[in-house]
Order: sequence, then structure tokens, then C-alpha cells
Amino acid sequence: MLCGTTSALTPEVADKMTAKIIDGVAVSGSIRAELKERVAALLAKGMRPGLAVIVVGENPASAVYVRNKMRACEQVGISSFRYAFPADAEPEQILNLIADLNIKDDVHGILVQLPLPSQFSIPQIVRTISAEKDVDGFHLYNMGGLVVGDTVFPPCTPYGVVKLLEHESIPLEGKNVVVVGASNIVGKPMALMLMQRDATVCICHAKTRDLAQFTILADILVVAAGQPNLIVPQMVKTGAVVIDVGINRLPSGKLVGDVDFEGVRKKASYITPVPGGVGPMTVTMLLANTVASAERKSNGIRSLDHATS
Ligand code: NAP
Repeated sequence: MLCGTTSALTPEVADKMTAKIIDGVAVSGSIRAELKERVAALLAKGMRPGLAVIVVGENPASAVYVRNKMRACEQVGISSFRYAFPADAEPEQILNLIADLNIKDDVHGILVQLPLPSQFSIPQIVRTISAEKDVDGFHLYNMGGLVVGDTVFPPCTPYGVVKLLEHESIPLEGKNVVVVGASNIVGKPMALMLMQRDATVCICHAKTRDLAQFTILADILVVAAGQPNLIVPQMVKTGAVVIDVGINRLPSGKLVGDVDFEGVRKKASYITPVPGGVGPMTVTMLLANTVASAERKSNGIRSLDHATS
């Protein structure tokens, strides 16, 4: 059980509360404006950052994500190169392409859109991407770096969450943070990044018994489980900061997160909406990692050579 207290707010104050909605679109916009300036500085030195995007099969959601990422690249001046393969492509074709992209001068980031068809081993694909160009932050080197706090490319979604918290000047030091979801791409790196910022972190997953006994103690609750309505008001401490990473498409077609937004916003101090919260930040941090990679190259930094495989 986490150490901590429940709310210090009186019931009268709590009754009148509605959370401040953290606008991920606006925060993304200001980060993208800064990135545009950094791209302009690179262009002045004769370098345009480039992102290679590999997509396999016809997954409609993947097609939308890839289109959004490429459009976002264009907005800030990053070149993007799309490599599309049919669903029955041989893994060797993609591995060979990655090997070529690893040494291509105008490519600073390589992204393989997930999910991949079943003939692919995702760990093998991720290991093949040079750690120097791993702008998704999934390479073992970058993942391992999170443990000791010197990752070059933090995974984009947790990185985006950290940026949202920073933007709202929400302190992390000494806070009780509960992360619901323990995936390699969101929950685990999220927990490590928050621990690095001196929060007291608890991580929950599908086998956690009595989830509410943990979430109720969170000063900051980050939810990334992929379960609509998992978090309801009685599971949230009054005044908590609630970050909803989940993206779920309901049978009605509506897009929702993992949190009962209307209920929880009356109890929280800050909350992210879905859509328009963490989602736009994920794409923006991919751009940030790509620009950072080009800057590293422009400055002659290649400290990860030993980590590429
Ligand atoms: P994932 O790989 O399916 O992992 C889900 C995690 O949630 C697992 O650790 C699972 O536990 C845990 N979980 C599932 N049901 C739970 C429950 N009832 N109680 C507590 N924990 C539960 O998913 P993911 O890739 O991390 O993504 C999570 C959600 O975030 C999805 O909705 C996804 O679409 C969304 N997402 C959004 C963005 C964005 O940009 N906003 C980016 C990435 C993902 P076990 O480990 O025990 O199975």
C-alpha cells in the first residue's frame, strides 16, 4: 500500500471543484513552434531532419496514425519518407530496409508502425533499428537508459505526459504517483521517468488486486490500460491530477479514454481529455526526438555506436 493521505480539502470546497482541463493540442502547438525554430537552425547549417516511417499491411488505424505523423513532420519542416509493405511481406525485407536506413545520412529517425503482422518479431525489429535513430525510444539501450536516467530518446507517450505536467508546473518531487498499466511502451517507462523526478511511484496492472485502494492515494494518477470507464470518481482522491492515456473506440464510434471524464473532472484538480490530451503530445514528442537526433548528428555526437546492433 502507498504511504499518503487523502484530501485536505473541505467537502464544501471539494463540491465546487472542477478540474482544469489540460489542453494537449495547445501545449503541442507551442512545442511544435519551438521545434520549427530548431529545424530552421539546422537548415541554416545545411541539414534537414528526416524521419523514415515503415508500415506493413492495411491496418486502418495505423494508416491514420502514419498520415498524422507525416503531416506533423511537414508542419515543422522535417522530411518524412514512407515505406509501405503488404501484410504478407517477409521479415527480411523490413530488416534489410532498416539496415539501409540505419546508415542513410538524410534519415535521423526510424519508426516501424505497430502492430505488425504475426510473422514479425517486434523485439527483433526494434533491436535492428540503430539506437542512434530509435526516435520511438523502444531500443533496449534507450529503455535501459531510463533506469539510470540518461536515455537519449524517451518513449514518446510518457515523454509527452512529462511535458504536460511540466507545462502545468505540477510538482512531482515527493508526490504519490500511481500508474495504471505496465506495458513496455507506456506504463513501465512512465513509472521510471516519474521515479527519476523523485515521485513515489506505484505501478498497477490487470492482476492488481483492488485497484481502487491504490488509485485513491494518488496525487497524480496516470492511466494507460485501454479499458473505457476503468477509473470512476470514487477511485480518485479529491484534488488529484488525472492523466488519461487510454484511447478506446466505443461501439457508437465515439473515442474515449480510460477515465470517466465527466465524473472525475468534478473531483480532480487537473485532467486530460480524450481526444485532445496525451494523443497530440505523443506525435509531438516523436518530432522532438527526430529533431534531437538530427542535432546530435550535426554536433558530431555518436555516443551510442556501441549500442547499435
Ligand atoms: P497494453 O500493451 O495493452 O497494456 C495495457 C496495460 O494495462 C497492461 O499492463 C495491463 O495489465 C493493464 N491493464 C489492462 N486492464 C487493466 C485493468 N482492468 N486494471 C489494471 N490494469 C489493466 O496497452 P498500451 O499500449 O500500454 O496502451 C494502453 C492504452 O493507451 C490503450 O488504450 C492505447 O490505445 C493507449 N495509448 C495511447 C497513446 C496516446 O498517444 N494517447 C499512446 C499509446 C497507447 P497486464 O500487464 O497485467 O496485462
